[in-house]
Amino acid sequence: MKQYPFLDLALANAPYMDELKAAACEVIERGRYLHSTQTELLEQEIAALCHVKHCIGVSNGLDALRLILRAYKELGMLNDGDEVIVPANTYVATVLAVSDNGLTPVLCEPREDTMNMDSRLLEGLITSRTRAVMPVHLYGTPCWDPTLMQVAREHGLLIIEDNAQAIGAASDTAGLNGTFVTGGLGNAAGNSFYPTKNLGALGDSGAVTTNDDDLANCVRALANYGSDRRYHNLYLGYNCRLDEIQAAMLCVKLRHLQEENDTRSAIARTYDESISNPRVKTPVILEGMKQIWHQYVVRVDDREAFRAHLADNGVGSDIHYATPPHRQPCYRELSQLDLPLTEQLAAEVVSLPIAAPTTIDDARSIADIINRF
Ligand SMILES: *Cc1c(COP(=O)(O)O)cnc(C)c1O
Repeated sequence: MKQYPFLDLALANAPYMDELKAAACEVIERGRYLHSTQTELLEQEIAALCHVKHCIGVSNGLDALRLILRAYKELGMLNDGDEVIVPANTYVATVLAVSDNGLTPVLCEPREDTMNMDSRLLEGLITSRTRAVMPVHLYGTPCWDPTLMQVAREHGLLIIEDNAQAIGAASDTAGLNGTFVTGGLGNAAGNSFYPTKNLGALGDSGAVTTNDDDLANCVRALANYGSDRRYHNLYLGYNCRLDEIQAAMLCVKLRHLQEENDTRSAIARTYDESISNPRVKTPVILEGMKQIWHQYVVRVDDREAFRAHLADNGVGSDIHYATPPHRQPCYRELSQLDLPLTEQLAAEVVSLPIAAPTTIDDARSIADIINRF
């Protein structure tokens, strides 16, 4: 029986093996493993992709978000105990970045259709302590609209994008800087290059993108022991650097990102057109949004039976995410919150294969299998 793995990173990277090996060898031979040309090149290319002035390569996506919030504290724009609104329906890392900085996460329910944070609910969550909002472009779908911007403007909130799943996506509503690409819409953005992301390294890495000169300088210093120049420590910093080998791998992968995203779009279109089982709800994308299909997520009532049917027919699947942050043991203090839509989604979502090596033909076959459920 033909197998349709949910994800196989070795196969996904196989087409670029020669380029990756050559790039790794170059770094090894050059002998500069940190703070060098590949990191600079990657930073320039990511900044250009996101239409921002600054990109700072860092250790991973969670650190990118932590550094942004910490930098805003150093710059006096956030203080201990301030409230930051985050989507309830997200990966836990979004919320961890807030808690880690002594800030208070305030959870916002998603929209039924896009599963992204519902900006119409923001106004009702604002208190005298609210200082920032962190939209997450979940599954590669931009979470950005005029309501979000208006609420942020009226209440003087910082907008920090969690762009971990959406590098290269675009909104039809311009961001604060008049541009449309995610990672450049708000005041700052955290990006992740975790191996399974659309732009994936061969290990951990991430980046902060922003147009704010002061924030960029502060993040860069914080990520390097808090030092703004050699042996001068302005802040109580961290070591959150991106290394040259990962940067070199990402420069290779970046050359193919557009083509990879186009393939994902074609697969998503095939699923949309071919899945006709009334028990399976396909994703809703609002008009004008350019989404990059980090995940293709369907919803089913009887998830266990559905996944068993997929597995019986050789189709891998996954769940993003089965347990929402407020149900995690580390967030006991949030466990009493009433977030029915978040919990319903957590019980119904199933991610189908969309990453390489999945092909359009595979998507047709998988849709047929789904229609027989
Ligand atoms: C992957 C991810 C992160 C964290 O990125 P890492 O590089 O794994 O630290 C944060 N937020 C979201 C929404 C993610 O999907």
